[in-house]
Amino acid sequence: MTIASPPREIWFLTGSQGLYGEATLAQVAEQSRAICAVLNGDSGILLPVVWKPVLADASAIRRLCLEANADDRCVGLIAWMHTFSPAKMWIAGIDALRKPLLHLHTQANRELPWDTIDMDFMNLNQAAHGDREFGFVETRLGVARKTVAGHVSDPAVTRRVASWSRAAVGRAEMSTLKVARFGDNMRDVAVTEGDKVEAQLRFGVSVNTYAVNDLTPLIEKADEAAVTDLVTAYEDLYRLAPELRTGQPRHDSLRYAARVEVGLRTFLTEGGFHAFTTNFEDLGDLLQLPGLAVQRLMADGYGFGGEGDWKTAVLLRTLKAMGQGLPGGTSFMEDYTYDLTPGAEVNLGAHMLEVCPSIAAGTPSCEIHPLSIGGREDPVRLVFDSAPGPAVVVGLTDLGDRFRLVANTIDIISPPQPLPRLPVARAVWKPRPDLRTSAEAWLTAGGPHHTVLTSALCTEELDDLAEMLRTELVVIDQDTTPRQFLRELRWNQAYYRLAQGL
Ligand code: MN
Repeated sequence: MTIASPPREIWFLTGSQGLYGEATLAQVAEQSRAICAVLNGDSGILLPVVWKPVLADASAIRRLCLEANADDRCVGLIAWMHTFSPAKMWIAGIDALRKPLLHLHTQANRELPWDTIDMDFMNLNQAAHGDREFGFVETRLGVARKTVAGHVSDPAVTRRVASWSRAAVGRAEMSTLKVARFGDNMRDVAVTEGDKVEAQLRFGVSVNTYAVNDLTPLIEKADEAAVTDLVTAYEDLYRLAPELRTGQPRHDSLRYAARVEVGLRTFLTEGGFHAFTTNFEDLGDLLQLPGLAVQRLMADGYGFGGEGDWKTAVLLRTLKAMGQGLPGGTSFMEDYTYDLTPGAEVNLGAHMLEVCPSIAAGTPSCEIHPLSIGGREDPVRLVFDSAPGPAVVVGLTDLGDRFRLVANTIDIISPPQPLPRLPVARAVWKPRPDLRTSAEAWLTAGGPHHTVLTSALCTEELDDLAEMLRTELVVIDQDTTPRQFLRELRWNQAYYRLAQGL
């Protein structure tokens, strides 16, 4: 029951002007359709790219930008100045535009026809000239955008467009996202707090709290046949602990976990929520902390944050929407504990229960164990190691006057030894450039302990998203040094405060 995406598309805009005459404009149109077709033929670009008629005057440009704002299907625009498009005609439109923009600096031909080139060719193929004019006006207006240069036949070009298209999906998802919080924040925790009004203004996300006992009636009256179907699915999908099997002593706990899943799905579906949080300090009439249900909902694309952490729930849903269809997975994660053996330092990430099986190596096992905190019945959960490979962890903090995203590129590894007594799903990773630098930088940035771990996305998609949201992103990677990172934070502090205005 993966979350279905609404219809979404990208618009392709071509700039020119009337000076060239009808015949030339017809050629411009034909060539820009060909460029658009290349983008549509690229499997990495997530959405249809819809070609729009060539723009040659200010009122048409403004009208198209206003249409883009009003059309929910349009999640972003790609603009290319095929010829010279005097950019004063773009001012009103670009100034009114509220959707993400990608400036594609390309041209119809890849090679120059050296032996036949004449002034007609020069006048037709002058993106080198026209896109500079457009870039000037974008910069003059302070327009957030991504600029991609190169011929569209170059996979490096379409890869960069593809990354942006995924970020545009994430932004669109955020702009309509509704988050249900069951209970408030875990008591006394600071970093999971935040300004929900600012989040709604900046990201569009709506975050509201419900009593956990708004959920419990849906669990209690869960349809028995639906519960039985889920239990069968668990038996098929996971390695079920013997004590949980039909007829075994703890089978009722598994049925209860299935009831929680039915109830939670019903609540989220009926309310149109794509993300949620729980709080183990506030379980109302729930008998178990939801573990298995949360893990399975995450695997279906829902955002989640533990202990009332709505910011991480928002980020998880956003990155899941961005990573759809890509190999790898995306999960709620928490930095838990370290191995500090010199030269072999690693981070062991996990949570009490809630790690998404999309990052699992192999088939998860479904088990039941006591939870040392919370004081309820033993919860059912999926236990697994995470698949080795490169990934990114990302956290979202509220600095009081604004949000900051902190990311770290990591390499997930197979645990150096088995973990026979650890009854939760986990990931073991080497942070880049090394644990010491990564941890020092992360702490200096005020990054949270809850994160989203994704092996589906790279830092480029995150960069693109941050630009669209006009939100700071600091990346800790193989090139990070503590000194340079501290300076980046200080400079950013000044920049982002100035950029907000008074
Ligand atoms: Mn936690």
